[in-house]
Amino acid sequence: MESIQKPIVIVGAGFAGMTVALNLKNLNPSLPILVVDSVSNFIFKPLMYEVLSKEIRIWEAAPKFANIFSDAGITFLKNCLIKISFEDNILEFSDQLKLSYQYLVICTGSIPNSFSIKGIEENCYFFNDLNDLNKLKIFLKNYQKNPSQQKLFIVGGGPSGIELACKIKDIYIDQFEITIVEKSNEILHRNKIFNREESERALEKRKITVLLNSKVEEVSVNKISISSQDRINSFDKDIVIWTAGVKPNLSYLETNQITKKYERILVNNKLQIENYNNCFAIGDISIIEGMEDLPITAQVAMQEGNHLAKNIELLIRGKNPLPFEFQDNGEMISLGIGEASISALGLTLSGKLAFEVRRLIYASKLPDITESLKSASSWLFQKKTIFKKFLKKNNFN
Ligand SMILES: Cc1cc2nc3c(=O)[nH]c(=O)nc-3n(C[C@H](O)[C@H](O)[C@H](O)COP(=O)(O)OP(=O)(O)OC[C@H]3O[C@@H](n4cnc5c(N)ncnc54)[C@H](O)[C@@H]3O)c2cc1C
Repeated sequence: MESIQKPIVIVGAGFAGMTVALNLKNLNPSLPILVVDSVSNFIFKPLMYEVLSKEIRIWEAAPKFANIFSDAGITFLKNCLIKISFEDNILEFSDQLKLSYQYLVICTGSIPNSFSIKGIEENCYFFNDLNDLNKLKIFLKNYQKNPSQQKLFIVGGGPSGIELACKIKDIYIDQFEITIVEKSNEILHRNKIFNREESERALEKRKITVLLNSKVEEVSVNKISISSQDRINSFDKDIVIWTAGVKPNLSYLETNQITKKYERILVNNKLQIENYNNCFAIGDISIIEGMEDLPITAQVAMQEGNHLAKNIELLIRGKNPLPFEFQDNGEMISLGIGEASISALGLTLSGKLAFEVRRLIYASKLPDITESLKSASSWLFQKKTIFKKFLKKNNFN
């Protein structure tokens, strides 16, 4: 057994970081674990649409890290990582704090990728974190007062774009004329066929326009320029929401400091960073050698977090870490208020029942929070305990 002189530091407490921290503490309660995040609240991103539609409350989808970690006996620090010295095992933070570590897990997630297209950063809304959610809520609320129909463009026909379009249409009915702009020849081209077909039906039912084979060239204050079949058209717009891609959030790394692939940190199948066996990168920021096709999802991040907790415990015990294996447990898509589509473990389900099942599954995955919050009449947290056992038994992870 290795003696632990310095803490195991986990930077980023999203799906990956939260899972590794809670599981590691469970496996070995005596380990000194320090979790650092630049914000105060966890955000359960798949439930952001339901917060927008007020189907669930903000605190249910975004509990405070301090509550989650103090309950689990883990130290939490709010701070922003700005530099890593892998040779000296030292981290530097934005308030000049320096910390040394015995093991390091970095999992700082993704940020929107504008692909350097003109005007995106300045003139688009995003839907990636709590801050984006609040900004969009304020915009939509203000425009609701406007008597005329507003032109709303959503760029990206992936899950975020589709789920957001259906939800906004159901909340604001005819207040917005919604157009989805997708550069490939179909929506959800990396998703399950069943969910794609259900989504196409949901968009048609809501009269949401989809422009396929169309690429955004520029967004200005009042216009959006879209190229299609070698022609560029310029449209009036009131709001553009950019969901067309993400990139790893790695601002604290120096150029060429460590090996990357497709801009993400390359790790081996034990989730270790090349040349630094006590350092790990998981979740959206990393790519596993030989498993480059894994999707950038919470499902992958949580499975990696779970596996890494076991590997760190093995290393501390002087044993060899094990290779990560991904188990595809399917996918779920919300399609407007009270509807969803699920394609998982050979089962397909759509409509209202799928919506309820989706909520139950997510309820089981929400991090544990304090008793006082649990008793605050939250549907999600009441159901969490009951269904956790059922879902575990049926392997819905
Ligand atoms: C709207 C939306 C819906 C989604 N729906 C689904 C879905 O239905 N199913 C699914 O599987 N996936 C879904 N995803 C994708 C999923 O949320 C991500 O893949 C997942 O969050 C990745 O987990 P992570 O731990 O790598 O990063 P995150 O969960 O993003 O966590 C990263 C954390 O790192 C912190 N951080 C960043 N930089 C620093 C720094 N320098 N210092 C300190 N802390 C830092 C951040 O504050 C954040 O808390 C969705 C994503 C979005 C945006």
